Amino acid sequence: MATTERDYYELLGVSRSASEAEIKKAFRGLARELHPDVSDAPDAQERFREVVEAYEVLSKSETRELYDRYGHAGLRGGGFQPGHFDFGSLSDLFAAFFGDDLLGGRAAGPARGADLLSTVEIELVDAAHGVTREVPFQVAVTCSHCDGDGAEPGSAVTRCPTCGGAGRLQQVSRSVFGEFVRSQTCPACAGSGRRIEKPCTTCNGAGRVLEERRFEVEIPAGIHDGQRIRLSGEGHAGLPGGRAGDLYIQVHVKPDPRFVREGDDVFSTVDLTMTQAALGAKVKIPTLDGDEELGFAAGTQPGEIFVLRGHGMPALQRLGRGDHRVLVNVLVPRHLNDEQRRLLGEFDAHADERTYRSDEGFFDKLKSAFLR
Ligand SMILES: [Zn+2]
Ligand SMILES: [Zn+2]
Repeated sequence: MATTERDYYELLGVSRSASEAEIKKAFRGLARELHPDVSDAPDAQERFREVVEAYEVLSKSETRELYDRYGHAGLRGGGFQPGHFDFGSLSDLFAAFFGDDLLGGRAAGPARGADLLSTVEIELVDAAHGVTREVPFQVAVTCSHCDGDGAEPGSAVTRCPTCGGAGRLQQVSRSVFGEFVRSQTCPACAGSGRRIEKPCTTCNGAGRVLEERRFEVEIPAGIHDGQRIRLSGEGHAGLPGGRAGDLYIQVHVKPDPRFVREGDDVFSTVDLTMTQAALGAKVKIPTLDGDEELGFAAGTQPGEIFVLRGHGMPALQRLGRGDHRVLVNVLVPRHLNDEQRRLLGEFDAHADERTYRSDEGFFDKLKSAFLR
């Protein structure tokens, strides 16, 4: 089966920072709309396949992480095979049509912990070289007093009288596909099947407690403003047996007044005085790697652009760096005293057409030869 090269977030109509719940909701809406059994649109089958593939990738943190960092190429490198439905997405697909509890699939397993979002702000120069930051956050961890059980150690735990200890209540429903046995999480015990007589004194029966943590996060060189770094399994703890959620670090790159970033390239301007431009000058200009001295030839014109190849931002999903382009601005004197005015007048008296004529360079000559 051919794999799509379209952007997965675009296919699902969600932002790159969409939560797991938002992605699931978008997928369900699209699946309902595009399922070939339902839609008459000629491209429904193709679109349905693409949407399922996008969901396959974005609904799992490992593949989403690969895709976020390295795009389609990263998934191929990671051995991702589109179109191999696993049980999770299949049950989500059914859930899109029949609601959550069908197949008893996901809901029966121990609940996964919630995701966490923390933000960190860095300078553009740090984004250019990569930086390590300590990010503080509060996370729910398994209570060590009761081991996540929720019951005070040694206290009695009995079977839930509502579901008889099964944790689920069953009910038969009819649909276009025939009869289905639906099962539902028991509301009395929230699926645990147990009734706790004495809740744990440390966590009040929640099985989890909040803990202050700090995380050293390596922010990769070339990161863009608003991008998120995902740390799998570092989010809130799940119920006993369920895995922890993910921790997301959203990176805000502060604008630098000296540079304008455009993709992997940066732009800046340099002011030359009229005489520096006319006589030539060496001028220090700021770059992402620190100050650098640039030599400007005599006769440098306003609007000329100097390209510092490979001095831009590192490319996040490729090797190499963008360019740094320096735009020349020439300062013309605004306030002259009598002596300066006299000197410029004298200069002008000695200037002629040759003084301002441009010397065509080799490439200019080539260009004019072709364009004539
Ligand atoms: Zn406890
Ligand atoms: Zn129950």
